[in-house]
Amino acid sequence: MTTYADQQTPETSEELKVIPIQNKESARYCWVCFATDEEDTEAAWVRPCNCRGTTKWVHQSCLQRWVDEKQKGGNLGKVTCPQCQTEYIIVFPNMGVLVLLLDTVDSFIYKGCPFLAAGIVVGAIYWCAVTYGAITVMQVIGQKEGLTIMEQADPLVLLIGLPAIPVALVLGKMIRWEDALLNFMRKNLTKIPFIRNVLPFRIEVATNTESSNENDLPPLSNPVSATRVLCGALLMPTIANMFGKFFFDSVKSNFHRTILGGLTFIAIKGCLKIYHKQQQYIRQCQRKIWTILNLIFLLIYIVIDETNKKLINRKFCIATY
Ligand SMILES: [Zn+2]
Ligand SMILES: [Zn+2]
Repeated sequence: MTTYADQQTPETSEELKVIPIQNKESARYCWVCFATDEEDTEAAWVRPCNCRGTTKWVHQSCLQRWVDEKQKGGNLGKVTCPQCQTEYIIVFPNMGVLVLLLDTVDSFIYKGCPFLAAGIVVGAIYWCAVTYGAITVMQVIGQKEGLTIMEQADPLVLLIGLPAIPVALVLGKMIRWEDALLNFMRKNLTKIPFIRNVLPFRIEVATNTESSNENDLPPLSNPVSATRVLCGALLMPTIANMFGKFFFDSVKSNFHRTILGGLTFIAIKGCLKIYHKQQQYIRQCQRKIWTILNLIFLLIYIVIDETNKKLINRKFCIATY
């Protein structure tokens, strides 16, 4: 950009052209926009840090733009030179007490809002837990009985007791009693013929596979899924209520019926889970990875088998004629 220099009188334009050639080493060069003295003669220059050499100089406006980008809109926060890590000294004009006060309030609100938001979320979760607890009490004991008990109870007991219900359900759901029982059965009940027939145990499984090393066998328990635990725990009272109504309709007490329903559900689900886990375990133990040759042999076998069947059918047709 020699346009500005061109507009000058011949003497000044000659001077400007000469200077960079004489002091090529000391020519100023902005590390943000890469412009030199020659290209932008009006811009204000600044040396804000301890850098030497080509990154020593920068345009005031370019550096301010760069600082704005680093501070992401806010005028707070330290900004350092990317080369020498010197902190830039940013001086603001004095705008009076009111602006200073507003700045302080603004920064206070900016810093406080994340904590406030976290508090609101925790509060919302707490009140959800209280509501869930109250609904569960009415589900288990019965609507009228539950309401009268909650009306008579101390508010403090309710505020602690009701949210403890979903927490207790989730903690209870996390007890993996099926795994413990299955492990116990695998270790101790292999000698009982009936259970042996229902659940083939590891000893038999391990001898079928080529490697009977315990470390090679798949792990007993699946990883815990948080969403599964949460859903299972929170749906438990509803399912218990349904099972109670279905299996124990003759029981008059709502509480006893729901408890019995819940226990029945846990028992049925536990048995199915143990059976499924054992079957999965056996499948894992007996799996094999095939070579390509295995597959080719299988295909050849299928083709031969099909042609044999066709031949037999044809012979049969001829015979009937
Ligand atoms: Zn620049
Ligand atoms: Zn620097």
